[in-house]
Amino acid sequence: MPSRDQVSYFGAGPAPLPTSVLEKASQTLLNYNDMGIGITEISHRSPEANKILADTKTALATLLDIPDDYDILFLQSGGSGQFSAVVYHMVSSWVEKRRKRAEQEIKAEASDRALEQKVFDRLQKEVKEELRLDYLVTGSWSLKASQEAARLVGAEHVNVAMDARKTNDGKLGKIPAENEWKLTPTKNQGGTGAALTYLCDNETVDGVEFPSFPSALDAQSPDDERLVIADMSSNFISRKVDVSKYAVIFGGAQKNIGTTGITIVIVRKSLLPPHAPLADPRLLRDLKLPVGPIVLDWPTIAKNNSLYNTLPIFDVWVAGQVMQSLVKLYGSKKIAGQQDISDRKAQLIYETLDAHREVYQVVPDKSVRSRMNICFRVRGGDADAEKAFLAGAAEKGLLGLKGHRSVGGIRASNYNAVTLEAVQKLVGYMEDYAKGGS
Ligand code: PMP
Repeated sequence: MPSRDQVSYFGAGPAPLPTSVLEKASQTLLNYNDMGIGITEISHRSPEANKILADTKTALATLLDIPDDYDILFLQSGGSGQFSAVVYHMVSSWVEKRRKRAEQEIKAEASDRALEQKVFDRLQKEVKEELRLDYLVTGSWSLKASQEAARLVGAEHVNVAMDARKTNDGKLGKIPAENEWKLTPTKNQGGTGAALTYLCDNETVDGVEFPSFPSALDAQSPDDERLVIADMSSNFISRKVDVSKYAVIFGGAQKNIGTTGITIVIVRKSLLPPHAPLADPRLLRDLKLPVGPIVLDWPTIAKNNSLYNTLPIFDVWVAGQVMQSLVKLYGSKKIAGQQDISDRKAQLIYETLDAHREVYQVVPDKSVRSRMNICFRVRGGDADAEKAFLAGAAEKGLLGLKGHRSVGGIRASNYNAVTLEAVQKLVGYMEDYAKGGS
């Protein structure tokens, strides 16, 4: 039976965590802060839990330079839960804005006692003609998110502004040029704008990462602004992010951040009450639009400091420990310090793959290669060769390298807790295998 230090784990999530954090975690499970009870036993409303929450938020805000006009929420939904939460919230917010505008304009026109009905009729028309949710589909997770949106509000309201498969022979692995995207025109472009524009910053299964924030989504003026929602589940806290460009960033913790159980949402405060009221659930029902469960309701979670219902405080604690150790390690460099290491490790793996193209073939195009999930085939996807590669790797304690079941192949996940030494061991094995020495 191998010990922990004999194994290098490259799983895509749940993913490795720093051994130092896990050692401390095992202690806190038995006795937290000399309280005589473990961390999973304390109340989520205790002062200790409140401090864990506050410290974790501070560490995240420090690492990513999150501006003050953003709120940080913790939920149990998983990344998939946020596929739905995003739709519930942004559609409700869109409807309320339209309702207010309709009410003001119709009120100005006539002092009509049938105002409410008129507003409703107009809203019904606007929903039908103008409610659009833009999705950029670059991999299986953004595809799933767009399918969830279509399930909730109807496919007629979902504009797949870009489907990477369409310009790449039906395959994922490239991001089409921005001028080919069919985004819903903004006000400045003669349109009415989308209720949201959604992207997945790093596609875990397909190994595709946006190299940077797409300039097509940059606002030139307030009338041009897009409400950009980004799923950063698999590249959270691995590189610098200009948070102010996003309306919402979300991600599950179980890759770069911590244990499975919490999902983090960074949301611009101007999208939450009291700045932005949401539509009355009765109105949404009358308009045949969905009303989400309360546990996914961002305003409710925000109002209750993420403690509307029982939050798994242990998972928040682990995330906090991971983030605080990065703050300490990188000092004033903050997340740029982690980015340097992540880039260097990814580069080592890609360089090795590129040096042996007859044996290894990287799946995505060079322009969009993920730094986090490195997807490749062995000898063109030959089943026996890939089996042998994985078996040889396992013998050397290199685990978790099997590609996602939907695509096969090999995937080396290069998350923050994967050490440089582990990557060096992996590339050493890849060299040996390519030269036939394994
Ligand atoms: N988005 C991305 C990019 C993911 O990688 C995953 C899970 N691997 C999800 C969403 C779904 O997350 P969860 O399983 O927490 O619902």
